[in-house]
Amino acid sequence: MGSQAMMNPLDPEEFRRQAHVVVDFLADYYLNIENYPVCSQVEPGYLTKTMPQSAPLQPQPIETILQDVQKHIIPGLTHWQSPGFFGYFQSNASTGNFLGEMLLTGFNSVGFNWLASPAATELEMVVMEWLLKLLQLPKSFSFSSDGGGVIHGSTCESFVCTLVAAREKKLSQREADFGMLVVYCSDQTHFSLQKACQVVGISPNNVRSIQTKKSMNFQLSPDALLTAIESDVRAGLVPLYVCLTLGTTSTTAVDPLLALSEIAKRFLMWVHVDAAYAGSACICPEFRHFLDGVEGANSFSFNPHKWFLTTLDCCCLWVKDQTDLTKALSNDPELLKNKASDTKNVVDYKDWQIALSRRFRAMKLWMVIRSYGVTGLQGVIRKHVKLAKHFEALLIADKRFEVVVPRNFATVCFKVLAPNASNEDSKRLTQALLDSLNASGLVYMTHAVIEGVYVIRVAIGATLTEEKHVRMLWDMVQEHATHLLASCADIE
Ligand code: PLP
Repeated sequence: MGSQAMMNPLDPEEFRRQAHVVVDFLADYYLNIENYPVCSQVEPGYLTKTMPQSAPLQPQPIETILQDVQKHIIPGLTHWQSPGFFGYFQSNASTGNFLGEMLLTGFNSVGFNWLASPAATELEMVVMEWLLKLLQLPKSFSFSSDGGGVIHGSTCESFVCTLVAAREKKLSQREADFGMLVVYCSDQTHFSLQKACQVVGISPNNVRSIQTKKSMNFQLSPDALLTAIESDVRAGLVPLYVCLTLGTTSTTAVDPLLALSEIAKRFLMWVHVDAAYAGSACICPEFRHFLDGVEGANSFSFNPHKWFLTTLDCCCLWVKDQTDLTKALSNDPELLKNKASDTKNVVDYKDWQIALSRRFRAMKLWMVIRSYGVTGLQGVIRKHVKLAKHFEALLIADKRFEVVVPRNFATVCFKVLAPNASNEDSKRLTQALLDSLNASGLVYMTHAVIEGVYVIRVAIGATLTEEKHVRMLWDMVQEHATHLLASCADIE
């Protein structure tokens, strides 16, 4: 590294050279990704033991740093981009996204209000309107009505912002103590809603996690919601907010949006639809029906950073009435005063989120949509759903397994069955199967417990996953199950 570059951390020629080195490094990483165990196999503390105790005094060349990435960091990574990654829900990357990330990081413009970066604000509005059309969301969520969309970092952030908006709206509409407000969800709702309630100050005693049943495919029941609300109203409490889920985390259940939002409307509640995972699928006409009833919601969000070829962090949130958000979240410090904001004709996204500063996330989403087009993005969803459908059919055809809930999208939940096995035996076997498959390092899956039943979740959605990887997974499932069941029979 020349002394000039040391003096100038943004020397254009050094930037060009070093960035190319990193791109080559990542290209090789993707090329060799199948050589690494999908889930990291290091022990806790492995890195803290090997890293120097203090920061280097002198600058170090990129080549040396990358050697350490290869030697020390990669072994401690769980490789979410590996084609053998079937855990949690995927976070699928793409070249288009990567290039968008490069651009947005390169510009590093901080578009907290329109003036601070008009392109960042307006591109976000454009992309959110494109997505609104793609998902066929009701026009009421559009900037052309009273609504609009914003990109947050996570669903948790969208929960916090919509809870605050709902709280302010409710408290401005009627005399009520903050402590009287109640939030409703199902026992399948993502746990980050609970955290968002904690952040907003809503006591866990005022969050109703309504029990769901396998016999109803783990959907939130309208009757159960109504019963819970009526009981609270009788007790003098005030129903505030209900979170409905399109694609729950454990089993991808879809709540009946229309029936539930009609009940909520009777009690003047805020309805949020969380489609973090499955929202992406609704860009395909054949899956759009899952969104039916979204017109009854006040807000809707989905995470392109799961199944839309977009990396963390990226959660798209729409609201029907943008002033609900801005009344609750805006401030007007002297430091940021400017003529454009004064006209009220521009969007100042700082008033739609928690933080002041914000990344130019629209850039990567715009790059993804342009790089692959609607047909390319639909193709990705369809490919994963087709693979999952095939995998599900293989499980159904084999008497040693049970698909515990019908598959809606590209996630399959199954357990091991053994002759005369109790639920406890089945749990032990399923857990043992998961452990042995994951220990191979070739694949990685995670589990869920639903109505007391332990299931392996197979979420098919990594960008690099092809038919051959799902075939390999199936071969491994059969082989490991055969060994497991044989060893159980020996013990008996
Ligand atoms: N909602 C659902 C249905 C999810 O599956 C998840 C994460 O998997 C979340 C919310 C949380 O998303 P985030 O990490 O963006 O807060």
